[in-house]
Amino acid sequence: MNVEVKPTPAGSTLLAETPEIARVGVIGAGQMGNGITHVCALAGLSVTMLDVKANALERAVATIDRNMERQVNRKLISEDDRLDALSRIRTSMDYADLGEADFVIEAATEKEEVKRAIYQQLTPNLKPSCMLASNTSSISITRLGAATDRPEKFIGMHFMNPVPVMKLVEIIRGIATDEPTFQAVRALGEKLGKSTAVAEDFPAFIVNRILVPMINEAVYALYEGVGSVSGIDTSMRLGANHPMGPLELADFIGLDTCLSIMQVLYEGLSDSKYRPCPLLVKYVEAGWLGRKAKRGFYDYTVTPPRPTR
Ligand code: NAD
Repeated sequence: MNVEVKPTPAGSTLLAETPEIARVGVIGAGQMGNGITHVCALAGLSVTMLDVKANALERAVATIDRNMERQVNRKLISEDDRLDALSRIRTSMDYADLGEADFVIEAATEKEEVKRAIYQQLTPNLKPSCMLASNTSSISITRLGAATDRPEKFIGMHFMNPVPVMKLVEIIRGIATDEPTFQAVRALGEKLGKSTAVAEDFPAFIVNRILVPMINEAVYALYEGVGSVSGIDTSMRLGANHPMGPLELADFIGLDTCLSIMQVLYEGLSDSKYRPCPLLVKYVEAGWLGRKAKRGFYDYTVTPPRPTR
């Protein structure tokens, strides 16, 4: 337990206790869940990663292994660091295995009903002091927290993709989140080597409030025939100096996730400027979800990926 000594105006001191986090649960072994597991294990935490699909867990462990090997090759970590970190990772399909966790972060599919169902099954298995976070890109932390038995210990911890590479974590307090939880999660972000930005609990927080409408606008430009996929991406890479074009980025994030974020913005802010582009909706309906489905605005079954329009 870390103890922070805070001076009071009267000159005496108050002990504000920041709960220590040593054992972590990660729910969802998709692209975010495996990245979060990766950075937690490297930072010395024991991690249990849980998913409803056994093959998602197997894929996630293989991805973590591969990504850590890449870090060893680049001399960012040692071979011992990699082996130690891998030995701290467990996988599970049973919530009872999270009974010892100090902190659980949910990184499952971006659908409110999925997350609510997870919390219902999860929370009876947690110890009372366990803090709970969602990695949601856009859903209200206050509303998600209210769906749990511990809204005061519930918080938003929004990692960026790919987690081992990206430096930022947004931290979002729900209206009920207490100060020790906020401090503990901010300290965890720093322990993981990230910079933290504190965002208020508004739809999509800071990064996605700005980024995803830009992606949606790029899809409109494609839909209206203003430019082709490569025309739009090249324009933004070379004309705005973005490291990736917006459609390439959309494929990387996942088109289903992009659409969910636009829907949350549209409904949450009741402003037509956030209307999801019909072409984005069609791609998601077709199952063309981007890189993870091997097809989105680009076809990833060929090298280099080929624009689909
Ligand atoms: P993903 O589709 O890659 O992975 C989601 C995982 O959740 C899948 O493995 C799925 O099997 C699992 N899952 C679904 N229902 C479950 C359940 N009931 N119990 C346990 N596991 C379950 O999605 P992702 O891109 O990793 O996104 C996960 C979360 O992270 C979402 O809330 C998303 O908004 C957020 N996020 C995504 C990005 C991004 O760039 N993709 C960035 C930041 C935050």
